[in-house]
Amino acid sequence: MHELPVMNRILAVAEKHARMNRIQRILKIDLEVGRLSDLEEKWMRRYFDQISKGSIAEGAFLSVEWKPVVLACSACGTTFEPELSGDSPSVCPECLNTGGTLVSGRGYVIKSMEGI
Ligand SMILES: [Zn+2]
Repeated sequence: MHELPVMNRILAVAEKHARMNRIQRILKIDLEVGRLSDLEEKWMRRYFDQISKGSIAEGAFLSVEWKPVVLACSACGTTFEPELSGDSPSVCPECLNTGGTLVSGRGYVIKSMEGI
């Protein structure tokens, strides 16, 4: 259910962007979504189709690109994609330190959009 407020926000940003660029009709929205964002693509599309009805984004194609989870090692700074399967901790491939800070993989962003 949390996809609905997210899609509302994405539509609002897209409409604002369209107004600023004098776009009459939004044809395509390119999204980047982190794998940790806990969003499901089928619900994103379903809600977007619902809420965009009657707006300038009605019928727009939603392109969803899933971004991998990337951690930066807290010891040596190496960035790596941790194993997300199982409950093994994320181990740095360079120095074998465990733990790091999340660089990417959370949240969502409108990368670009097309309109006329
Ligand atoms: Zn390291």
